[in-house]
Amino acid sequence: MSIITEDDFRTEARAFLDEHAERRVEEKFSWGEGSDNVGLLEEKTPEEEAAEVVAAKQFKAAEFDAGFGWISGPEEYGGRALPTAYERAYRSVTTDYALPNQSVFVIGLGMVAPTILAHAIPEVKERYLRSLYRGDLVACQLFSEPVAGSDLAGIQTRAVRDGEEWIVTGQKVWTSGAQHSDIGEIITRTSPDKPKHKGLTMFVVDMHASGVEVRPLRQMTGGASFNEVFFEEVRIPDSHRLGDVDEGWGVALTTLMNERAAIGGGSGGMSDFSIARFTEMARHFGVADDPVIRQRLAQIYINGYVSRATSMRSMAKIKAGGLPGPEMSIGKLSLTKNMQLQAQTVGEILGPRLVADTGEWGTYAWAEMVLGVPGGRVAGGTDEIMRNIIGERVLGLPKEPPASR
Ligand SMILES: Cc1cc2nc3c(=O)[nH]c(=O)nc-3n(C[C@H](O)[C@H](O)[C@H](O)COP(=O)(O)OP(=O)(O)OC[C@H]3O[C@@H](n4cnc5c(N)ncnc54)[C@H](O)[C@@H]3O)c2cc1C
Repeated sequence: MSIITEDDFRTEARAFLDEHAERRVEEKFSWGEGSDNVGLLEEKTPEEEAAEVVAAKQFKAAEFDAGFGWISGPEEYGGRALPTAYERAYRSVTTDYALPNQSVFVIGLGMVAPTILAHAIPEVKERYLRSLYRGDLVACQLFSEPVAGSDLAGIQTRAVRDGEEWIVTGQKVWTSGAQHSDIGEIITRTSPDKPKHKGLTMFVVDMHASGVEVRPLRQMTGGASFNEVFFEEVRIPDSHRLGDVDEGWGVALTTLMNERAAIGGGSGGMSDFSIARFTEMARHFGVADDPVIRQRLAQIYINGYVSRATSMRSMAKIKAGGLPGPEMSIGKLSLTKNMQLQAQTVGEILGPRLVADTGEWGTYAWAEMVLGVPGGRVAGGTDEIMRNIIGERVLGLPKEPPASR
């Protein structure tokens, strides 16, 4: 059977987008005009957030029903089974349109769904994949705990087998988007007597199940994008296990590599600012001729360019059928390094205006970005962990001795 040509596919995509989205208007940045919101972590009121989730879900459903929701996915689970080049073609057509903010789906589609596809039994794939790609369900990642982040294998949430079910008790933390989620990918300890990487098992958990409690965490930026999630004797059917019992570490690695691909391969939901925001600020405050500021601005531009090129190279490997590898850490690290330089430069240009709100356009608004940068350096693996991965797995340097076993 012949497949649709890429040209016809693009025409079809344009027809769909013309009907469901506005054309993007080229925005030229001018100092003092438009919104001065530059937050990294999308701080919103609960009402704004709820309205955005509704719009995101409506668009996702229409996109899926028109055949653009999971272009390269297997047909039996709702995909269109086209080559990955068609995914790229669709993404390139969408750049001409202003789509509703889709960040509520970043974790579910970027990390959880690929892990379900790789490790779940067919019934579970059948049950969740179509609904995730259609946006009917939202998923979160339940990995980090109060005592286990970088050292993920140190998690303590227990899962104990009870016939055809598992009983899960413990606490997760920093769970992005748990407040909107229907399911979560949860890593648990099933064999406490085994070495720590070997006694872990992964599951898909129903976030509406009895015994699950989601509590928002307030950040220093003012918003509450993350949560603590408590599990009190939550029952999970054995069918919802991802991979074998005590083999959860390998499953976690699938998710983590996809996570770094999602963050390093784009901006991972974190805003990517045009260089004009910085150059216009420097002009406005009369420091555009300062050699140190000029050097920093040039460095921000160069870093951004190199970071994008590095990500594109890694993404090309995935699109050619490879798996996200340790090089994803380079993309993530270069993105966060540039965010740090941006924050530092903004601080140097704005001085006290960054910390005292005078109401002046484009000044105190940057405090939200500056306070969000440490979160970017920690999310999806900290800068130090990325450096360890690059040193050991990309450059082949000797391994760091483990802190604990
Ligand atoms: C914006 C954001 C979103 C997040 N979303 C989620 C989510 O949805 N789901 C989820 O499960 N988690 C999430 N997290 C949690 C995140 O994965 C952890 O914060 C991260 O893995 C670090 O763990 P930790 O906070 O326990 O810090 P720790 O691991 O305690 O690290 C503390 C410090 O020690 C350093 N360090 C630790 N080990 C080493 C080492 N071996 N070598 C050198 N330095 C080291 C770290 O770099 C860091 O500076 C999110 C975090 C953020 C900031």
